[in-house]
Amino acid sequence: MPDTASTENSRIINEKWFMETPQGKALAGSHCPKCGRVYFPKKRVCVQCFEAGHMEEVALSRRGKLYTYTVAEAGPPGFSVPYAFGYIDLPEGVRVFSPIGGDTSRLEIGAEMEMTMGRIRQDNGIEVIGYVFEPV
Ligand SMILES: [Zn+2]
Repeated sequence: MPDTASTENSRIINEKWFMETPQGKALAGSHCPKCGRVYFPKKRVCVQCFEAGHMEEVALSRRGKLYTYTVAEAGPPGFSVPYAFGYIDLPEGVRVFSPIGGDTSRLEIGAEMEMTMGRIRQDNGIEVIGYVFEPV
């Protein structure tokens, strides 16, 4: 499993998507203090109630349920096939688009999934690391 920090041979896909917690990296969402809606990736303005300038950064849950997924048998350069992508519904009410790792033959709609950090693709010899949800 790759480390959770960028190194000489790897880089984090987008540092803005993450925040550090005592349990390690978590997805960084934004919470609207006015209407309570939570977003990922973060937003500066709430598109539900138009609250601006007061969005709070929150660490999102690592576990959620698989809403839907697809398994690709062909991919762009740098992707190992087959690979899976899908949507994960988190308890905060956020639906996150995510690469899916682990045993993709075990995927089931509604299954419990957990976030980890993993390899997304190879980019000119550099491992691109990002969030990946896997079946629990
Ligand atoms: Zn709002």
